[in-house]
Amino acid sequence: MDNQPPEQRWQMINRAVFAPLPRDAVEAVAGPEREPDLYVIHLSVAALDLTGALNMACAVARSLAFLPQLDVGATHVSQEDNQNVRHWVFCNMILPGRQRCGRRADHHGPCDSAGVEW
Ligand SMILES: [Zn+2]
Repeated sequence: MDNQPPEQRWQMINRAVFAPLPRDAVEAVAGPEREPDLYVIHLSVAALDLTGALNMACAVARSLAFLPQLDVGATHVSQEDNQNVRHWVFCNMILPGRQRCGRRADHHGPCDSAGVEW
């Protein structure tokens, strides 16, 4: 390489530096090329009433909030035989600074993102 003209050496270096990386290497660093699709996991629980089911959903959602794939604020509950009627667990209102309200869906007073980890 030392006996090549400077311009040719420079071209070889450029090709090596700017050569496309293998797709797996790029995705390992930058993430997948496209946005992932969204799916809903239906998880049945036993509760005496809707309030109990909402409390259970709140506890489960908050305990799994460390998983980046989850949209915790979108957690909702429905009766097994009436899944078209959804009861939201969290307010999830969009607040200034692109934060979400982490209070329960039926909260009184102003929205608040304090303490929300998602
Ligand atoms: Zn709110």
